[in-house]
Amino acid sequence: MVKKSMNVEEILLKIVLENAITHNGKAAFNSVMKTFAGTYPEYRPQIKQLIPTIQKLIADVNAMEIGSQIEKLKQLDPTSKVFQEAKREKKEISLPPLEGAIEGKVVTRMPPAPNGYLHLGHAKAAFIDWEYAQMYKGRMILRFDDTNPKDVIEKFYDEQKKDLKWLGITWEQEYCTSDNIETHYKLAKKLIEQGDAYVCTCSNETIRDNRQKQIECACRSLTSEEHLKRWERMFSEFQEGEAILRFKGDMKSKNTAMRDPTLFRIIDHTHPRHGNKYRVWPTYDFAGPIEDSLSGVTHAFRTKEYELRDELYFALLERLNLRKPKLLEFARLNVRDMITSKRKIKKLIQEGYVSGFDDIRLITLRALKRRGFIPAAIKQFVLSQGISKAEGEVTFEQLEVINRKLIDESTPRRFFVSNPILLKIENSDPITATIPNHPDNQALGKRTVTVQDAVYISQEDAQRFQVDTVFRLKDLFNVKVTEISKEHITAEFHSKKVLQNTLKIQWVPSHENVDVTVLKANPPILLKDPETGNETFNKNSLITIHGLGEPNLTQANVDDRFQFERFGFVRIDSIQNGKITAVYTHK
Ligand SMILES: [Zn+2]
Repeated sequence: MVKKSMNVEEILLKIVLENAITHNGKAAFNSVMKTFAGTYPEYRPQIKQLIPTIQKLIADVNAMEIGSQIEKLKQLDPTSKVFQEAKREKKEISLPPLEGAIEGKVVTRMPPAPNGYLHLGHAKAAFIDWEYAQMYKGRMILRFDDTNPKDVIEKFYDEQKKDLKWLGITWEQEYCTSDNIETHYKLAKKLIEQGDAYVCTCSNETIRDNRQKQIECACRSLTSEEHLKRWERMFSEFQEGEAILRFKGDMKSKNTAMRDPTLFRIIDHTHPRHGNKYRVWPTYDFAGPIEDSLSGVTHAFRTKEYELRDELYFALLERLNLRKPKLLEFARLNVRDMITSKRKIKKLIQEGYVSGFDDIRLITLRALKRRGFIPAAIKQFVLSQGISKAEGEVTFEQLEVINRKLIDESTPRRFFVSNPILLKIENSDPITATIPNHPDNQALGKRTVTVQDAVYISQEDAQRFQVDTVFRLKDLFNVKVTEISKEHITAEFHSKKVLQNTLKIQWVPSHENVDVTVLKANPPILLKDPETGNETFNKNSLITIHGLGEPNLTQANVDDRFQFERFGFVRIDSIQNGKITAVYTHK
């Protein structure tokens, strides 16, 4: 139902947004017009005058990320059918029910450290948090865990939000852990006063050694008064590395995480949000449970490698008498042959081996976007593994299969020939072929391609021909090979009717076509020596394929997707002086 107060522009904006959200972020003019005319017949007399407005709205909306489109639509019409449909779709993905979840009360949080572009692993965490919040009509908090100033880069607060919005993820609240540091100090003081935390001035080696030997250091038995004094000195006198605040856990515990872990340390480093205002910073061991508890999180998810630290999480909240959220673990995403380590990626970029964080060989969200993957496929892929704790390696091909299924029907086909060779056709008049843009989806329409007396075909196809071979130039006619030379092939017109068991091959006219270069990832980026374990850069991890595309590709825009028939799906990455660079998505 649409609110009565909506004017025609708002109605149009709503239709454009709904159309975009249900079509991977891109509204299409024809279907917007159809919906508008069908749903609001009273506006039909004015429809012609409204066309420029509709076109402008489509351009504006298509320039937005899906997340922003969803937000906008929620403001405009929270009852939109898109949200009803989204609920139905959720059932198919079906995460298991959440223990202790009450509808309307579930609060989850996504806590990235703003230190790099998000990758597939982050997408898994984000979708689990978001999906559960949606499932129980609760809310999700985006919290930047930014309490290690050496590990915070200013631009990533925004860049990570862009990544999440691209995924279609929305959140109800957003804040930075570093903004609550004064509260953290108060709680730390409380722990010290209670005798539950102490300032340790031992050297790193002593601390490590004691942890291993399970013995307490001399600092531990000093009075709370002494530790409060030492705590004050952490803000002024002590140098970095000279003193840390430790939790009074249990040095004899079998769980190493409980052997008096560090809660606060001195880091003299400028923070992008706070400059040099603070030098005593909480560790994630401290900040995590405190923030989860104080911000009202009911269900906190984290990856399995934190499992050992669960005991500490609850012990801290217990001693501070704070509410305990439910803590749930899921297996970290390991994709075979893919690297997610920021350190490794950075090194590859610095050494010039990969072009940047959106290099198509990586699985950052930027790289996947560039390659032509859609958020819906990423969501299905990461959630298909559920929230099981079982560690396992998944293959990138699984994501490709899902993406192909989702984009196939809406992706137009085009002819592309790699490593072209000229095919001269004798005994034929110029002919214009009408070719459907999709074999099954007629809504994608048709295109025409004109052939005079020659076409280009791919060398790979040409290699299979001999004199007298009859083959079909797809959607055109059959030809018979009469002569083969290194430079070209000559054939003559054979027949029009489709013949059984005849090879059908793609072609582009010789008199008009488009230069196309396709970049294709060929993993892995790093080759591992089985004996030494050393990793070296794989020089063959990126393949460049040159070829020619049919003339219709001159109308293509950056970001458009096509399936180059018998080659694979591609996304147009750039267009320069009429030459196209495309990125290979998958088969
Ligand atoms: Zn000590």
